[in-house]
Amino acid sequence: MRIILIAIALFTPIFLSAEDESNWYKGNTHTHTLWSDGDDLPESVADWYKSNGYDFLVLSDHNILSRGERWKELRADEAGPVMKKAAKRWGKKHVQTRVSNGKKQIRLMPLSEVRDLLEEPGKFIMIEGLEMTTNPSRYSVHTNPMNISALLETEKNSDRSVEQELAVHERLVHGHQEETGNPVFWQVNHPNFKFAITSEQLAGVEGLHGVEIMNSSRNCFNLGDGSRPSVERIWDIANTLRLKRDGLPPIYGTATDDTHDYHIGDRVINSPGTSWVMVRSAELTSNTITGAMQRGAFYSSTGVILKTLEFDAENRTLTIEVDAEKGVNYRIQFIGSHKDVSLAHEHVASIVDDKGLAHPVSPDYLDERIGTTFQESSGPNALYRMTGDELYVRAVIHSNAPPYFKYDAFSDFEKKAWTQPVGWKAREP
Ligand SMILES: [Zn+2]
Ligand SMILES: [Zn+2]
Repeated sequence: MRIILIAIALFTPIFLSAEDESNWYKGNTHTHTLWSDGDDLPESVADWYKSNGYDFLVLSDHNILSRGERWKELRADEAGPVMKKAAKRWGKKHVQTRVSNGKKQIRLMPLSEVRDLLEEPGKFIMIEGLEMTTNPSRYSVHTNPMNISALLETEKNSDRSVEQELAVHERLVHGHQEETGNPVFWQVNHPNFKFAITSEQLAGVEGLHGVEIMNSSRNCFNLGDGSRPSVERIWDIANTLRLKRDGLPPIYGTATDDTHDYHIGDRVINSPGTSWVMVRSAELTSNTITGAMQRGAFYSSTGVILKTLEFDAENRTLTIEVDAEKGVNYRIQFIGSHKDVSLAHEHVASIVDDKGLAHPVSPDYLDERIGTTFQESSGPNALYRMTGDELYVRAVIHSNAPPYFKYDAFSDFEKKAWTQPVGWKAREP
C-alpha cells in the first residue's frame, strides 16, 4: 500500500484548483552578490528585491554559501556605487572596513545577518541557495539547488563530461535532501550558455526538477543561435523523451534574473527585475515554497501576471486568465506533444568552440508533433480542453507590451508567461 501511495504522489500531475486557498508568491531563484561575481552587497541586493514587490529571494553565488567571516577588496569601479548606496540606505557606519596588506577591504554580511535585517514573516524571506559551477574552460555545467543548509562542493576544475558532472550534482543534492528532510528544488541553469547542455543530456537527469527556460543575463541564448535550438525547444524535447520513453515526470521551467549588475541605471543586462517565478503555496516559508516548486505549482514570467491558472484534472481543462494591463493585447498558446509522436531523430554534428572544445548539439527531431501548438487565441482568457491525444500541455501567454532592452539578436525580452506542463501521466519506469 505504501509503495502505491508513493507512486501516486510522485506521478500525479499538479492540480491547481480555483478553490484552493493558497497564495501566489513572487521570487527570484538565481541571484549573485559580492560573495562571488555580483557587484553589490547581499543586503543591498535583498533590499532591492524586497522593495520591488518580491516575496522571496535565493542568493546563489558561485560555489559558495554566504556564511562565516568574509572580507573583500572592491574593484575601483564597484567601490563608489556600493558604498554610496549602502550609506544612503543604512547610514555611513553600516559597512565595516579594514586595511589588509595596504588594501582597503569591506566585510560581507552572512545570510543570517541579512535575514535579521530584512526578513518579515509572511512578507519577505530569503531561501538559501548556491550555483554549483564547473570550470568554465570546459563544459559550463551550472546548477542551482534551492533550500539547502550546507555547501554542496563540486570540483571546480574537473575534466568530467557533462553527464558525469550532472550526476555528481544530482548525488550531492539528493543526498542533502535526504539528510536534512527538507525539500530541495534543483534546476539546471542556462542550458545554452556556451551551449553546454543538449535536450538528451537534460532529459537524462532523472532527479532534476527544473531548467531555466528564460535567463535574462548575458550570453544565455534563450532563443538559440540559428544553428542550435532555443531553450524552450530543448525543454519540450526533453519532456517528451522523459514522458514518452523514460516514464519520468517532466522538468519544470523557471525564469530567473541571474543578476550580476546592480549599478547600471536603466540598462537591463544582468540587472534585477526582468524574469521571475510566481509560486502557489499555502504559506511563505522556505520549505513550503520549495515544496510547491518541486510539485510544479508555479509559473514563470517576464512581465505577464495571471489571475487564474487552473488545471482541472477531472475535466482535463487548463484555464488561463491574465491580470490584463490596460492597452496591452495578449495571445495565448497551448503547446505540447502528441501521445503517439515518433522519437526518430537525425544526428547533428558537434560544434567546436574557439578553445577547440566540441559541444554536442541537440539532434533534429523530425516529428512536428513534438512541442506543437494545439490551440492559439487572442485575448486575455483562454481554456484548453484536452482531447486525450496529448502527452502533456502547457501554456505560453504572449503580450505586445514594450519589450525589455534587446541587446543581441538572440535575446528575448518579450513580456510573457509560461505555465508548467500539465495533464501528463508518467509511467512507473
Ligand atoms: Zn551560471
Ligand atoms: Zn549565475
